[in-house]
Amino acid sequence: MSNRTFTMIKPDAVKAGNIGNILQMINAAGFRIAAMKYLSISKTQAEKFYEVHAERPFYGELTEFMSSGPIVAAILEKENAVADFRKLIGATNPANAEEGTIRKAYAKSMGENAVHGSDSDENAAIEGSFFFSGLEQF
Ligand code: ATP
Ligand code: MG
Repeated sequence: MSNRTFTMIKPDAVKAGNIGNILQMINAAGFRIAAMKYLSISKTQAEKFYEVHAERPFYGELTEFMSSGPIVAAILEKENAVADFRKLIGATNPANAEEGTIRKAYAKSMGENAVHGSDSDENAAIEGSFFFSGLEQF
C-alpha cells in the first residue's frame, strides 16, 4: 500500500478564502506535504485530468468549474493516505458529508465541493505525476 495521495483545493474554496483553513485541517489530521503548487489549469488540462469521467453527464460542468480559477494542488503523505484522506474530505455531496470533514465545513454543493482526493493508490500516483515532476516531490 502506498503512503501518498493527491489533492486539489478547488476554485470555490480558493475564492472563498479557505486555503489556510483547509491546509490547517490537513496538517492537523497528520498529513505531510510532499509537493504543492498554486496554479490554474485550462479546460483542456481539466478534461485530461478527469478523463475517467468523460462519459458522465456532469463532465462539461466539472471541467468548466475546475478551470474557472486558481487551485492548490498537492501530494500528501501519511500511512494509509488514500483511505484516510477520503475520510477527512467526506462525501462527494456535502449534504451527506459527516461532521468534522472538510466538505462538511467548506463545500457548497455536489459540483463545488471544495477539495479533490484520489480514490486509489494507482490514481494517486497518476494524478500526482500529472502536476509534479520527480524534482518537485519531497
Ligand atoms: P473528487 O474526485 O473530486 O475527489 P469524488 O471522488 O468524491 O470527488 P467523483 O465521483 O470522482 O467524486 O466525481 C468527481 C467530481 O465531479 C466531484 O467531486 C464533483 O465535483 C463532480 N460531480 C460528481 N458527481 C456530480 C454530479 N452528479 N453533479 C455535478 N458534479 C458532480
Ligand atoms: Mg473522484
